[in-house]
Amino acid sequence: MLDRVLVVTAGPAPGFPVVGMIGGGQLARMSQEAALALGVSLRVLAASPDESAARAGGDLRWGRHDDPDAVAAFAQGCDVVTFDHEHVPGPILAALVGAGIAVRPGPSALAHAQDKVHMRAAVSAAGVPCPAWAVVATAAELVAFAEGLGGFPVVLKVSRGGYDGRGVWVVDSVAQAEALLGEVALGPGVQWLAEQYVPFTRELAAQVARSPSGQVAVYPVVRTVQTDGICTEVVAPCPGLSDEHALAAQQVALRLAEALDVVGMLAVELFDTPEGVLVNELAMRPHNSGHWTIDGAVTSQFENHLRAVLDLPLGSPMARAPHTVMVNVLGGEHPDLYAAYKHVMARDPGLKVHLYGKDVRPGRKVGHVTAYGEDLDALLARAHHAADYISGVIDE
Ligand code: ADP
Repeated sequence: MLDRVLVVTAGPAPGFPVVGMIGGGQLARMSQEAALALGVSLRVLAASPDESAARAGGDLRWGRHDDPDAVAAFAQGCDVVTFDHEHVPGPILAALVGAGIAVRPGPSALAHAQDKVHMRAAVSAAGVPCPAWAVVATAAELVAFAEGLGGFPVVLKVSRGGYDGRGVWVVDSVAQAEALLGEVALGPGVQWLAEQYVPFTRELAAQVARSPSGQVAVYPVVRTVQTDGICTEVVAPCPGLSDEHALAAQQVALRLAEALDVVGMLAVELFDTPEGVLVNELAMRPHNSGHWTIDGAVTSQFENHLRAVLDLPLGSPMARAPHTVMVNVLGGEHPDLYAAYKHVMARDPGLKVHLYGKDVRPGRKVGHVTAYGEDLDALLARAHHAADYISGVIDE
């Protein structure tokens, strides 16, 4: 299959750098748009021509992110190597650094986005508030952890390899604890992370871009809504969030970016509670909570990620409108998105529709829509209508 794919690359403009991005998903695809506008070249390591970024064309190389030879060959000729996911094994990244290649974020920073136990330990060591947590190995240890917090429910997570809520369970009883720890086999190097169940008011995300020379750009704090573990809606800025909590969330993101030496975009997912904000999770790349920035901010997260890893001056993260709403388009039963997409565009010319060129599978993120303006309720209604229509959940 791969040897029949023709990839034509014209090469970078003289004097302009090449950024290598490992991973060919929609984040790499949206980074390609930003790279084109900036005039820098983005070379993408994709595993198959069906991947979202591969379908967009450009400077594509084929190979897997966990194949040391493929990654090493890919990195040759790149001025900096970065990622559209966090799954490149640490030893492969260490080998790149050893070969003198600029890897941003670096392997020791990225390790915090790869392993939730490592992340919890670093967040706690930095004195940043997060849910109470412990590593557990047996059901008895999980039960003891729960009892220490006053009883169930507690949250159980796999330390590595989970995403979109896969690998996260709310545990309500001893029986469920025993069943889970008995039935789910952990892979090599994976641990069980037990966490206090946080009855949060809402979920937030705070994003910052940070460059190697220490320049930072801080985005407005957003509200995220997760449905069945998948981010479905983002509102920027978070409505009704007090200045105190918004500032605290931004300060947490700045503090962690500095403490963990993050280069590029950092997304900090947080729980808002009446007592303050708690860190849930970190991502060191463009993140779903920042897709609104393409249309809603002066500089998108994709552009600022490229600027940051190249140590270029960062762009303004300011919002363009009082409110921006981003709603993910999840795959439904209909494989054909094109007819629905035409209807949505005709119905609402103010809406921005982004589709990722992916095959449709139920529940899979295949695109997003963004609406920005003054009337938040109207924006929410418009964005949800469009996403539901494209998904096929509604037909009028
Ligand atoms: P993933 O890495 O798969 O995105 P997360 O750790 O972000 O997993 O958890 C997914 C979702 O589960 C969160 O967005 C939140 O809704 C819920 N969740 C995670 N941890 C907790 C917790 N300690 N208390 C309450 N809900 C939680």
